[in-house]
Formats: sequence, C-alpha cells, structure tokens
Amino acid sequence: MSKKYIIALDQGTTSSRSVLFDQNGKQIAMEQQEFKQIFPHSGWVEHDPQEILDSQLNTFQNLIKNNNVAIKSIAGIGITNQRETTVVWNKSTGKAIYNAIVWQDKRTASICEDLKNNDLEEYVKKNTGLVIDSYFSGTKIKWILDNVDNARASAEKGELLFGTIDTWLLWNLTNGKVHATDYSNASRTMLFNINTLKWDEKLLKALDIPKNMLAKVHHSSHHFGNFEYKNHQIPIAGIAGDQQAALFGQACFEKGEAKNTYGTGCFLLMNTGTKPQYSKNGLLTTIAWGIDNKVYYALEGSVFIAGAAIQWLRDGLQIIDTAEESETIAKQLTGDNPVYVVPAFAGLGAPYWDMYARGAIFGLTRDTGKEHLVKATLDSLAYQSKDLINAMQEDCNTQLTSLTVDGGASANNVLMQFQADILNCTVNRPKNTESTALGAAYLAGISVGLWKQNDILKTKTIEHTFTPEMENTKREKLYKGWQKAVKRSMNWEDE
Ligand code: ADP
Repeated sequence: MSKKYIIALDQGTTSSRSVLFDQNGKQIAMEQQEFKQIFPHSGWVEHDPQEILDSQLNTFQNLIKNNNVAIKSIAGIGITNQRETTVVWNKSTGKAIYNAIVWQDKRTASICEDLKNNDLEEYVKKNTGLVIDSYFSGTKIKWILDNVDNARASAEKGELLFGTIDTWLLWNLTNGKVHATDYSNASRTMLFNINTLKWDEKLLKALDIPKNMLAKVHHSSHHFGNFEYKNHQIPIAGIAGDQQAALFGQACFEKGEAKNTYGTGCFLLMNTGTKPQYSKNGLLTTIAWGIDNKVYYALEGSVFIAGAAIQWLRDGLQIIDTAEESETIAKQLTGDNPVYVVPAFAGLGAPYWDMYARGAIFGLTRDTGKEHLVKATLDSLAYQSKDLINAMQEDCNTQLTSLTVDGGASANNVLMQFQADILNCTVNRPKNTESTALGAAYLAGISVGLWKQNDILKTKTIEHTFTPEMENTKREKLYKGWQKAVKRSMNWEDE
C-alpha cells in the first residue's frame, strides 16, 4: 500500500502551523509562521484575515515542498483554530469588511452589559452553555455590523458572511464553495443553541444579526469540501476548535475523561458524554465534537495565569533564567514549603470569579529563599487546576481517576508530580504533547476512513505516568493553606 498522510492546519492566536502526520498518526514534520497582532486601542485585538490565510497557505506549501510529499498521498486535511475570533466578509469579492476581531478583544463589553440588562443571562447559559462575555463571537459580529459603513444594509441584502477562523479558511480553500463550520466552533459563538443544535433565533434577534450570514453546521469529523491544489482534490475532512481538538487528540473519548493544557493559562476540559452538563460553579458547557451522528459535550474551565506566572518569575522578578530552570530550583527545596503564591494578577476565574482579587504571597519568614518562591509559584498551577477539577467533579458527581496533560509547562516533572499528589489521582503525560494538531488530524483521518476511533486508543502512548505519593493528611493540610491564601487575596482592589 502506498503511503498516506494527513495534514493538520493549526491556526493559532499568534501563529499558523501546518503539521504532517503519517498513516500511523505519527508527527513527521511541522511548519510555522507568525503573523501580526494589531492593537488599535487599549483592550482591542485584531488580526488581518488575509494574513491569516496567507500564513496558513505558506506553511502548507512549505510543508509539502520541504518533505517531498506527493499531493496524491494526502488523504485529508483537518483544521483546528483559535476559537471565537470573528471574520465578516463580502461573498462576491471574498474580502473581509473589517479585521478579524480576536477572542481577547474587550470592545464589546457594553453590548454584553445590554444583554445582561435585558435579562438574558439565564437564557444564554441554558441555551448556549456560556456566560455573557465579550470573549464569544456574537457581540463581535454586532459590533462590525454597527460600526462598518454600510455593513448592516449589506448584511440584510445577504451580501455578507460571518465565520470563525475555521469557516474563513474553509471558504477560501474551497474557492468560496463551502460556507460551513463544526459543532465545536459553533458552540463558541454565543449564537448556537447546544440543545436543539440550531442557530438560536432569540439571540440572533437580540443582537440584530441576519441569519443568512451564518454558516451551515456539521459534525467535526465530516467531509466539508475539497481543497483543489495542483489539480488534486484534497478532502477537508475534520474541523474543531483548538481546545476541543486537544481533548480529541488526547483520546479523551469517554465520559469523565479530562485533559489539562498548561500553557500561558490552563485549559481544562472534561468529556461529559452525549448530554450537556451545566455547572453550578461558573464553568462553561460546550460542544466537544460531533462524530458518527452523535454530539459530545464538555465542561470547560480556565486558569488565567498559569505558565504566565513562570514568565513572571523569569522576566518580572528575574529569579530564574529560563522556564525550565524552575524545575531545578524547585528541586533544591528540602522539606515542606510554607509559602503560597496566589497569581491573581488579573483577578480570579472559575470557581471564584473575583475580578478584584490581586496577586499575593503568604507565609514568608526570614529564611524564605528563591527556591520557596519558585516552588510555590509552580504549586499555584496545580492548586488552581485542582480548584477547577473539584468544581467539575461536584457538577458531574463523578470522581476523576486520571488526568491527561499537555502544553509547555507539562514538561515540568516537579509540577506534574505535585499535581498528581495534590489531586490524589494519576497524571498521564503522553509522548506527543502537540495534541491540538493531532486531534484535527484524527478527526479528518477517521472521516476519510484512514483510521477508526478505536485504533487511536491503541496508538496512544504515555511518556510518563505520575502516581500520587502524598499522604492524605498532608494533602489536606496543604490544600487548606491554599484555600486560606486565596481567600485573603480576594476583594483586594477597590471596586
Ligand atoms: P501557549 O500555547 O499558551 O503559548 P505553551 O504551551 O507554548 O503556551 O507553553 C508556554 C508556557 O509554559 C510559558 O508560559 C512558560 O512559562 C511555561 N513553561 C514552559 N516550559 C516550562 C517548564 N519546563 N516549567 C514550567 N513552565 C514552563
């Protein structure tokens, strides 16, 4: 049999990447290109949609050229993307009418306030699984229609299309033939009803968004269309938002399985099966993916400051030279650490939700050294993750038995061992921690018949398993200390 490949297009917030996987799901090569971050005002973040497309296509072409890949051997393409980021374009010219408004952009806070004042909070939670926030696409579309000359009239005439980044790439790769998205991306717009699996009429009306702008929504593992490249038709056969793709890439296929990504922040997602699970602790309910005519849901929680706290040790306090060094320094600590660092630099998210909390250090004594601070900062990533996991367990009434990890800081063995200890559960670090691209590749490979979901479970290789070693009394004492520290950091800034 001739060799077959799957290519994942991984369109992230700061760079576009194309990743080549062989027919065994092994990563062969990767190309990456950064693009411009545009900050027109304080709190505004934009990308140039054309630059996103060009950078994505460049990495695709370089990947093929540099690895001598025969086009006919590419069985399929999977797309994964920065979520929520919003593009509106003219369907005749193919040109975006405004820059992409990025998920981090805060300009629509007042539109969100209006929605809250119209008593839509409970409705949004029940029907989209989300909280009303400028993070999600809905209010960004409204802003473009309200602020770009002639946009609303044009939208009402059916001349404009909206898409998250997956949709923008798909539409362009198919030469404007396919305007579609997948359930995972649709569920991040705050316009998609996760119960009926349809665009939500009430929210479209509340935000004054014409329905004809919206894409068709399909399962994530699906033949969306073809990319015509050098006289070959390459099936685009998988799409999922980045965090959901990572959950799939980690093969968390069963209810109760969870992954935690330790990047700048942490993203924790737990598969909750084929029914949406709502949170009493401020977590989001989202669609994980659609496959085999079934839709799977997830609970999602995020830690705002995780790896960013390690960057603060390096660049702010300058007590470490590299992020990796945090491991060696933390290892120098002998005995217990009485110090707690609460990195609430930007307030606290789930389950505390206190935007007036600020960072704090507790338990300093005359003999506190930098090793205490470094270890306490690493510990804070594990404690914050435990807070989220506790909330998820309470919401689902289940006990987590193992946690799969990825992201830059998951390379830190001291942190991972402490995570296992403080959770009292096994932490599995897979060989391939690039699970986002892998997830998109899996979704595409399954759709084109190259793989079966069960085969993927067999190929999952764990590089290291961290087993809890801490005594219960110590674990409880440490976690109590953390909770006390968090409490004292709360409500610090005056409202
Ligand atoms: P992102 O995708 O958010 O940019 P990455 O997954 O690339 O993040 O991870 C980078 C983050 O992880 C940085 O914030 C860095 O401080 C942290 N990091 C990287 N390596 C380590 C390490 N060995 N120990 C602790 N933190 C680390």
